[in-house]
Amino acid sequence: MSDRTTEVLVIGAGQAGIAMSEHLGVLGVDHLVVERDRIAERWRTWRWDSLVANGPAWHDRFPNLEFDIDQDAFATKDQVASYMEDYAVKIGAPIETGVEVTSVRKAPGRQGYRVETSAGTIDARFVVSATGPFQKPIVPRVVPQDAGIHQIHSSSYHNPGDLPAGAVLVVGAGSSGVQIAAELQKAGRQVYLAVGPHDRPPRSYRDRDFCWWLGVLGKWEAATPPAGAEHVTIAVSGAEGGHTVDFRKLAADGVTLVGRANAYVDGVMHFGTDLRANIEAGDANYLGMLDEADAYIERNGLDLPEEPRARISYPDPPCMTSPLLELDLADAGVTSIVWATGFGLDYDWLKVDALDDLGRPVHQRGVSPQAGLYFLGLPWLSRRGSSFIWGVWHDAKYIADQIAIQRGYFEYQGHPHSADAPVTDAPVTGAPVTGAQATGLGAVAPA
Ligand SMILES: Cc1cc2nc3c(=O)[nH]c(=O)nc-3n(C[C@H](O)[C@H](O)[C@H](O)COP(=O)(O)OP(=O)(O)OC[C@H]3O[C@@H](n4cnc5c(N)ncnc54)[C@H](O)[C@@H]3O)c2cc1C
Repeated sequence: MSDRTTEVLVIGAGQAGIAMSEHLGVLGVDHLVVERDRIAERWRTWRWDSLVANGPAWHDRFPNLEFDIDQDAFATKDQVASYMEDYAVKIGAPIETGVEVTSVRKAPGRQGYRVETSAGTIDARFVVSATGPFQKPIVPRVVPQDAGIHQIHSSSYHNPGDLPAGAVLVVGAGSSGVQIAAELQKAGRQVYLAVGPHDRPPRSYRDRDFCWWLGVLGKWEAATPPAGAEHVTIAVSGAEGGHTVDFRKLAADGVTLVGRANAYVDGVMHFGTDLRANIEAGDANYLGMLDEADAYIERNGLDLPEEPRARISYPDPPCMTSPLLELDLADAGVTSIVWATGFGLDYDWLKVDALDDLGRPVHQRGVSPQAGLYFLGLPWLSRRGSSFIWGVWHDAKYIADQIAIQRGYFEYQGHPHSADAPVTDAPVTGAPVTGAQATGLGAVAPA
């Protein structure tokens, strides 16, 4: 016996769950959103205190509500959380917080799923997993936990005061790693930053933010991740009004850049020889975007101011010309390591066959091979923008449409085929209008 039923159960009330609720609401589909913590919890507690959005307010939002701040400014993490809460109120999203989903199983002998939660059992014909693109912190097993060094993941870092006195090694040079390294350096810490491969777009170029450039150049819509990278680390920052991430500038400010943190032996961290290659690949990405932007301006006759300064680089710092390959952490006074090394997935609760051998969802644009089960908010779900605030809104719309199509099939009750039924070529009223009918391909059996 279930405690209750709903047509669609949405798991997670971050931006993805809220966007999903909006589109289901517009279609008049009965649904419930359950969230184990609070609305937009990850913006509240999984991100450092000074974090602001990477994109300006006019861009990093849903279409139907503006942030109540300067549209070119970068919302603080708390403003993003409040925005999500306001949005949920605005659309009357049926969200229950403090409810954790512990298992989702196929309902035996009927359509849909049986969902166990911390607040009882829910039967749902459709389930949408909106549990986040970044579900579980990943800390590579490089330094043993008993090495006498304070180690945290970037999702547990809040401010410099979190860390014991002393120098800090930050591992990872995506947006999180570079911003945390810069903050620690400004707070007076000696900082070592291990730089891996990354993209490094200009914050803005020729009077347009990089979010605008990614948009007009079609890069947000890119459907396929670059080879070997499901989530490309992009080093961008909205901190202090926004600026281009420049590793040479960070070094000029006092941060020591090193290559990848590969191994730790007897108190000594060993870094890769890849520092220069990683920075130069990031430079190439940066300059490539300037070139594409220039070509776009030229092609479309736009009147945007030239910006030759954007091509002037800081000189290579000594840490790049004579890179440090080993560091005795105790000798260097390093007392903490912040691992800004990304996130993995966690679908322990999903007890249906919709994951691959590595535990990753199998899906096409969020539609899983299991009828009625959908994924939302994952990196590259349909495009580069899928895990971002603006992008998930569009993916949610697509999934709501898929659910509506399936509901149409479920509601179909068949047509009279008895001898006395009139033979007619006219369309039969009451049947769902499906893509198949619209294209004249005939009816398709429900899954
Ligand atoms: C440091 C950082 C900065 C970012 N900055 C930006 C930015 O500036 N702009 C931008 O567009 N994007 C940004 N992103 C990317 C993305 O917008 C965020 O990761 C965002 O939180 C994703 O929203 P979501 O709703 O898909 O997932 P989440 O925010 O992760 O929400 C998923 C929710 O599901 C809940 N949940 C999980 N499992 C269960 C369960 N079993 N039962 C019930 N509830 C469950 C979680 O508690 C959580 O609240 C950033 C990401 C990070 C890590």
